[in-house]
Amino acid sequence: MIKTISKSQIKEVAQEAYEVVKKENGGANANYIPYLANIDKDLFGVSICLMDGEIINIGDTTFKFGIESVSKVHTAILALKEYGADKILELIGADATGLPFNSIEAILLEKDHPSTPLVNAGAIVACSLVKPLGNSDEKWAAIVQNITDIAGSAPVLIDELYKSESDTNYNNRAIAWLLKNYDRIYDDPTMALDLYTRQCSLGITTEQLAISAATIANNGVNPVTHKNVFDASLTPPITSLIASVGFYEHTGDWMYTSGIPAKSGVGGGIMGVLPGLMGISTFAPPLDSAGNSVKAQAAVKYIINKLGINIFSATQVTIKE
Ligand code: GLU
Repeated sequence: MIKTISKSQIKEVAQEAYEVVKKENGGANANYIPYLANIDKDLFGVSICLMDGEIINIGDTTFKFGIESVSKVHTAILALKEYGADKILELIGADATGLPFNSIEAILLEKDHPSTPLVNAGAIVACSLVKPLGNSDEKWAAIVQNITDIAGSAPVLIDELYKSESDTNYNNRAIAWLLKNYDRIYDDPTMALDLYTRQCSLGITTEQLAISAATIANNGVNPVTHKNVFDASLTPPITSLIASVGFYEHTGDWMYTSGIPAKSGVGGGIMGVLPGLMGISTFAPPLDSAGNSVKAQAAVKYIINKLGINIFSATQVTIKE
């Protein structure tokens, strides 16, 4: 079964989703990170990047919000590039924890590794693995360069967010030291945690995240800059990680209702990947009780369902002019 959709259909549906979802006012900004609590709750943006580099932007798509956990995907790609898919499977794993993003229990339940680079424990381990080991400045430069390549332009550190997170990240400090206790972290734990906290505090736009997702969807070639950022063989493992744990303990519900592998962050952003078709990103600060943006989720679901481009569908979709 093959179906063709047009670019103008995608634009219409994205605009419709924006208008419908804009009226929703459920949820509340993240309150455990002081900076995020104060962001304008009415900001809302939708961006889609197609495989030919064409971008659809609606609403607040140039506002730089905290990338937060979406950055786990970018640095997982860097670790995959540096160590290969097999080694990352061995050192970090590729299983959903079924538990919240910052779970200590998940570390205690696992025998050998932290399960996935897309929860806090695995993301801190991924930061510890970034080369060159022992050099915080060069590791940070590698992390930022990697995000820049994937997103097509540089993210900007939000100093106030970095300070806000560093002052309050007691749970993540416990995670880093617990990992050290079990010999599952590969550089200085304090340094790895600081790199993780800093990458979460990077400001990013929906346009940059839509391009990031499109780079993954396009076998590692950034469709806007045309730079070959990573080997095509890494698109399936990274997309599978996103599909299995992108919404933490609610990932099953997300996949069941949306049909698109996507990663959320407490900054209010979501980044979704449809291999071979598009990258999509939506952003709005108010979150549901699980820490996922109410409007961002609703907008992605609206677009994917209305266009009928569910990744699990037997219908193969192509996009025409
Ligand atoms: N920096 C946040 C934390 O580690 C990220 C959480 C998220 O976006 O899920 O608590």
